[in-house]
Amino acid sequence: MDSTNLVTDTSSEPIAFPRLTAEDLALLKPLATPCTYEDGQTVFNAGSADLDLFVVESGAIEILNPSNENRHVVTHGPGQFAGDIDLLTRRPVIVSGIARGHTRLLRVPGGRLREVLNKLPHLGETMLIAAQERRRLLTQTGVVGLKVVGPGKCRDTMLVREFLFKNFVPFTWYDSASKDGQKLLTGWGSPQKSPVIKFGDGRRLINPELRALAREAGVWRDCPTEPLDLAIIGAGPAGLAAAVYAASEGVSTVVLDRLGPGGQAGSSSKIENFIGFPSGLSGSDLATRSVLQMLKFGAKMAAPVAVERIEPKATADDFHVLHLDCGTLLRARTVLVAAGINWRKLDAEGGERFESAGVHYACTAVESVLYDSQDVAVVGGGNPAGQAAMFMAECCRTRTVYLLVRSRLGPSMSEYLVGRIRATPNISVHEGEEIASVTGERRLESVVLRGSGTLPISAVFVFIGAEPACSWLPDTVVRDKLGYVLTGIDALQSGRWPLSDREPCPLETTVPGILAAGDIRAGSTKRVGFAVGDGSLAVTCVHKLIAIRQ
Ligand SMILES: Cc1cc2nc3c(=O)[nH]c(=O)nc-3n(C[C@H](O)[C@H](O)[C@H](O)COP(=O)(O)OP(=O)(O)OC[C@H]3O[C@@H](n4cnc5c(N)ncnc54)[C@H](O)[C@@H]3O)c2cc1C
Repeated sequence: MDSTNLVTDTSSEPIAFPRLTAEDLALLKPLATPCTYEDGQTVFNAGSADLDLFVVESGAIEILNPSNENRHVVTHGPGQFAGDIDLLTRRPVIVSGIARGHTRLLRVPGGRLREVLNKLPHLGETMLIAAQERRRLLTQTGVVGLKVVGPGKCRDTMLVREFLFKNFVPFTWYDSASKDGQKLLTGWGSPQKSPVIKFGDGRRLINPELRALAREAGVWRDCPTEPLDLAIIGAGPAGLAAAVYAASEGVSTVVLDRLGPGGQAGSSSKIENFIGFPSGLSGSDLATRSVLQMLKFGAKMAAPVAVERIEPKATADDFHVLHLDCGTLLRARTVLVAAGINWRKLDAEGGERFESAGVHYACTAVESVLYDSQDVAVVGGGNPAGQAAMFMAECCRTRTVYLLVRSRLGPSMSEYLVGRIRATPNISVHEGEEIASVTGERRLESVVLRGSGTLPISAVFVFIGAEPACSWLPDTVVRDKLGYVLTGIDALQSGRWPLSDREPCPLETTVPGILAAGDIRAGSTKRVGFAVGDGSLAVTCVHKLIAIRQ
């Protein structure tokens, strides 16, 4: 494979480019319409949303990448099909398809894709695996999807890059100070503001609001207007697990997130303690796979949208009403609050000034690319801090990563991670240490420690003190002293459970029909596996509540 072509020969990539058998085609035929294209005719254009599934019977579809001067990506021959994960997400495709030779295709309408995935499991599995692998291969080529030009250490550019990354919208970022960035900006008439985002079909946005970007990138889906069985607030591991289980069991479900799928886990470079992945998986992989899985079963997702308020239902036959910041009122029979936690801001002089320009509250490829081989600091004593330190140390073995822990390394971090940190030569652990101030002229240059001394570094990644993200919940949803939501037996023992004819379900809050799961729940263990377990258990409660109409 070279950097401009995805694959020169699809037979070398049988997982990404499987050839369907005659039997597969026979199964597909009743769902499809045959169609014919002449050589050079467009089958689909980059930018088209809700793409149908095209399977080649004879002839071929050549895939071209408009983000890279319409270079050849791959050619699908007889028995092969076009499309990647956008077949499921229903977002605009990032490549174009052109018929080569007289071409006969089977066209399965997009609306029937879920039928293919669920009723023809063998075919569905082959297609799902191929879709994910194709996106991986295409991303590896480097120049795909949207072009984003803006300064690296700029809050707005960072927000756009984080948003696109979180929502797995393929993009290529050009630093506006780089030669390529300058060239692009000049070609676009040297806009005065940044970031500038250019779409495959030529549209451009300048420093947009996230929702406008989401609309233009095809990420935004209008929130359902019809009443639903279950509304899930938060698309972290707890919310996504609940969505997969609920939708797979026929519960009408929507997931809402103020940014996009993944939650905190989405900023983890490698989760090693989640069952089934012995060599670990990245948080963004976990999020992408979970979203595809919930979409396959028919759950809906809306982002970016924040829930501002919940009006609990007045009677058992009523609906809870969610007030969304897009103006929609969403009605749901049951609600799962899986809104996780927020990280506390760095309480140090200069911390705010350098936010996104040296001080970061996430540590993924989006942030790390800004700091090449430079020394950095990570603040915190929990798993997130440990993960971030390991990630930055492994990205570049010659840099020093200073891990600053307020007390002792160990009590709040998984043992495997402590051992790994201690064994990594380029991590320097400073226990009993905190940052007093962050200094620099135009960029972050050093941190002054409260104890003594100064560390010359280019970035600080902060993972300290979590706060449950529930300030918007009604007071009737009772919390513990630290603000975490009480559920089940704790909700009952709070004395604020209002019903006398039944006790709360294990994950039910003090408001009947409103559940809480994951990090936001009092007493939960703040780990991915536990959040997933909570999300799954919540679905059992949802079934029970729907059955008794609560
Ligand atoms: C960098 C990092 C690395 C980590 N590594 C590991 C690890 O290796 N192993 C491990 O087990 N755990 C790890 N953790 C912890 C783990 O990620 C969390 O325990 C887990 O993500 C909690 O899941 P959750 O679904 O409860 O909440 P979250 O993941 O916090 O997700 C909550 C979601 O709710 C959304 N939200 C909040 N408020 C609203 C609102 N009002 N409206 C709409 N949406 C809202 C947020 O945008 C967010 O997406 C790590 C955490 C971090 C930060």
